[in-house]
Order: sequence, then C-alpha cells, then structure tokens
Amino acid sequence: MSWTQEFKSALKTREEISNFFNFDFPEINYPVFIPIVFATKIIQAGPDSPLWNQFLPHKEENNVDMGRLDPIGDKVHAKNNQLIHRYENRALFTPTTVCPILCRYCFRKNELSDKDEIFDQKFQEAKTYLTANPEINEIIFTGGDPFILSNEKLAFYLQEFAEIESIKYVRFHTRTPIILPSRIDEGLLAVLESSKHFFKRSMVMIHINHESELSDDVIEALARLNEQNIEVFSQSVLLKGVNDSTEALYNLFSVLADVKVKPYYLHHPDEARGAMYFYLSLEEGRRIFAPLHNRLPGWALPQYVIDIPGGEGKIPAFNPESFEFSGELINRFGEKVKIR
Ligand SMILES: *Cc1c(COP(=O)(O)O)cnc(C)c1O
Ligand code: SF4
Repeated sequence: MSWTQEFKSALKTREEISNFFNFDFPEINYPVFIPIVFATKIIQAGPDSPLWNQFLPHKEENNVDMGRLDPIGDKVHAKNNQLIHRYENRALFTPTTVCPILCRYCFRKNELSDKDEIFDQKFQEAKTYLTANPEINEIIFTGGDPFILSNEKLAFYLQEFAEIESIKYVRFHTRTPIILPSRIDEGLLAVLESSKHFFKRSMVMIHINHESELSDDVIEALARLNEQNIEVFSQSVLLKGVNDSTEALYNLFSVLADVKVKPYYLHHPDEARGAMYFYLSLEEGRRIFAPLHNRLPGWALPQYVIDIPGGEGKIPAFNPESFEFSGELINRFGEKVKIR
C-alpha cells in the first residue's frame, strides 16, 4: 500500500474506533483520526499504554474549566495564515493544517480546523513578507504536518524559498516518519536531497514521545534519511501518562541516539484546553529531568524547554538552583514574566 492509501484508510468516528479497539470510548468534542496501520500498533501496545493514551479519546478532553485556547500565543505572532514570526531570525511556515494522526495532547487542538484551500492564496503574501524581512534566515515547515504534502508541493515551496536570498536554513517539523514511515519514500528523499543544494542546512525534526514509537519500520525510515545524509533531530513533549518518568525519557533518548537522531527539545506540556489531563507541574518536570544529566551524554540529552504562555516564546525549563517554581520566568528579552 502507498503512504497515501495508508493515510486515507483511517479510523475517524467513535463507532469506528470502538469497533476496532473493542472498547467503549466517550463522546468527545474533538475530531479523531488514526490510520489503521498505526491503530494496529496501538492494539498491540494495549489499553493505557503510552501509544493508547496519546491517540485515543479520553473523557477529560471535554473539560472546559481548565487550559487556554491559544496556549503559546501563536495568534499574537501570526503574520498571515501561513507565517508565524516570533523570533528575530526564524519563522514558522504552516503550509497545511493536516496531520498524519490527531494527538489528544496537541496544543493546537483548538485551531486545527481551518480548511487548506485558503492557504495557496496566502503563499505570495508570505513570500513578500520574507523578502521584506531579510533578518529571517530560517524557514521552519510545520503545520499540521508538512510531510503530508505531496513531494511536488514540497519541491515547489523549497524552490520558492530558495529564491529569497536571506533564507539559509530550512527545517521540517514532522510526526509523519513515526506514524506513516512509508512516507519516507524515494521521492521525498530526492526532494530533501535537492534542498541541500539550495540551503546551507536542511534538517528534519521528528516528533516522538515514547520509545515504543520506534518500531522496526520507523527505524528503517530513519535509516533511509540517515543514508541520504539528512540531519535528523527529535522533539518530545513531557506528558503525564505517557513518558513522565526519568526511566521512560532515558529509554527514549538513548534509543534515539543509537539510531543517529539527536534529541533536540523536551517540551514542558502547554496548558491547552482539552489536554490538561496530560499536564504536570514545572517542579515535577524538573525532578524527572534532573537525573538524566547523570545518565546521558550531552549529545543525547535534549534541552528541556517551556513555552511561556501568551507568545513570549521558549526558554529553558530546567533551573540548576531549585526544583520549586517561583512563578516567574525570564523571557527571551531578559525580562521577568509572571505566569502564576
Ligand atoms: C519553537 C518555535 C520556533 C523554533 O525555535 P527554535 O528554538 O529555533 O527551535 C520558531 N518560531 C516559533 C513561533 C516557535 O514557537
Ligand atoms: S502531529 Fe503535531 S500538530 Fe498534529 S495533532 Fe499531533 S501534536 Fe498536533
């Protein structure tokens, strides 16, 4: 089966997932989307496993008393529908709102409903903005998930960005190599290979939260990227009920390092409405993270980061002075921001 067929054969309704998993799921306020190839892996992992908890509905998703609708302030920094420019020299480019799966903890779960059709018209606007702001030297493809786009579409965007002289680096933030490893096909490898000629660096950041996501087919897909000399990094989110222990994180980062993926960021969970049941405090996170300094070399240890609510940006979450959280964080301009 091609990756597009695998993507289209997905479970979407409460009835479909209840039948497939033989489990009575609650009615929730958010859409569900699980490709059957991946659902098969969830069944093997079993109920309440890290795979199950990340993708299957939970009654707590309907809890509207806690959490923010735009937890990291993307709306504050959105330049048009496709660009988010928060940091001086890099911008997020969101060419699609489609993902290979819908993660229950997603911080964008309250906004991933826009339709893609309006997106194309906005692209010229994005290009104009980048040309007018030459301090931006890096384009980060995100979404949604950029690897859901066709190879032709990705090649088109890369060629367009290559015309802007100030863009030196490109990056792809994606969960697709984990969910649909067959997507790492010859065509995509060729697109990534050619991007190395347009830009100084072209990088892939995979989103992965638990060692059990690294099945054999995923490891093979990562090896294909590696053979093509594509630099691969990883981003993970600390999540209650998924990877909230030193042991789970140690296993994840050490296996990633073995398959030549550089752990880049461990994100503290965002306070997203409908995903607060995955949340844990900064103090808990710091206590889980600290012992990793003893167990992993610097090249296998990601930076633990927190996105300050309201669009203040990401900053280190670990504090060498204390586990307890004072309620204030220092933002990227060196100013103290009260968040409690
Ligand atoms: C996380 C993020 C980036 C990328 O940040 P790095 O620290 O360079 O990985 C860029 N723009 C926005 C809006 C972000 O949230
Ligand atoms: S793949 Fe990323 S953007 Fe898509 S649902 Fe999962 S966490 Fe959200």
